[in-house]
Amino acid sequence: NLLIKMDPEMDSQLRIGFIGAGNMAFGIAKGIVSSGNTLPANIKVSAPSNRNFDRFQDIGITTTHSNVELVCGSDIVFVAVKPHLVRDVLNETTVHFTDKHIVVSVAAGVTLETLEELLPEGASVIRLIPNLPCIVQEGALLFTRGSCAKPTDGVLLRSLLQHCGLVEEGPESWLDIHTGLSGSGVAFVYLFAEALAEGAVKMGMPSSLAHTIASQTVLGAGRLLRDSGKHPAQLRSEVCTPGGTTIYGLHTLEQGGVRASTISAVESATERARQLG
Ligand code: NAP
Repeated sequence: NLLIKMDPEMDSQLRIGFIGAGNMAFGIAKGIVSSGNTLPANIKVSAPSNRNFDRFQDIGITTTHSNVELVCGSDIVFVAVKPHLVRDVLNETTVHFTDKHIVVSVAAGVTLETLEELLPEGASVIRLIPNLPCIVQEGALLFTRGSCAKPTDGVLLRSLLQHCGLVEEGPESWLDIHTGLSGSGVAFVYLFAEALAEGAVKMGMPSSLAHTIASQTVLGAGRLLRDSGKHPAQLRSEVCTPGGTTIYGLHTLEQGGVRASTISAVESATERARQLG
């Protein structure tokens, strides 16, 4: 059945639902629309209020206040509510899921075991951890298939999400690490960007120009790192002229313990994700 759905012509008929109309649902939905895998009219979101509906409607996605209507009218259901609401929305809709559905939860810390308990036996469940840059189609997404999700379900999900950014599959124990590395990692990079700009302001550059150049520097460094496929240490050494400005600055960063504190930041964010789960 899924192999039939993966046929390019059939893909456009796939019906995709999002329970929850927040930032994550929007980022993923936008990526799916741009993949062209399905028509925007075949995507629906549900939420109790209208307050987040406009941006979905603007890109042709339909909206409803009924989670049950959404589940009944979808082949793939993304669960994109806050983690503490997952139990409520699945209890409300569970009798409407069939063995044809694929359920993809993006809720941080809600385990496959919990999801499988809340859904009918044999349900195809996938846990996906996205991050905010999905909104600009530069996300980093890691997923794990539940015990009844077939490899072809993973292939289908990858194809749907190909325009959301990097999509990888791994064991469930990596999802909390991915949360620390990439979900929280986005904020670590923002902190660094802010500090870069503040350094320039300290040396006399106007703040708005300093922030614009800092964000472009982070973007450029990130693209070069990804597109070159080189190890960051290799790229770093290429920027370091002997006796030049960069090695002086890097020495200052090392004295401040930036490397150790970044490693610890990923560690503590991962541990926090584990506690929440
Ligand atoms: P959000 O922006 O707060 O959106 C939550 C949405 O859920 C809102 O649209 C809200 O409706 C809706 N909702 C509340 N109760 C509902 C119900 N009973 N039925 C249906 N919808 C309901 O949250 P978010 O940042 O998108 O996060 C969603 C999930 O993504 C969370 O579980 C989070 O752990 C996960 N996640 C987020 C990130 C991230 O970087 N943001 C990263 C990884 C994973 P209203 O519009 O009416 O308020």
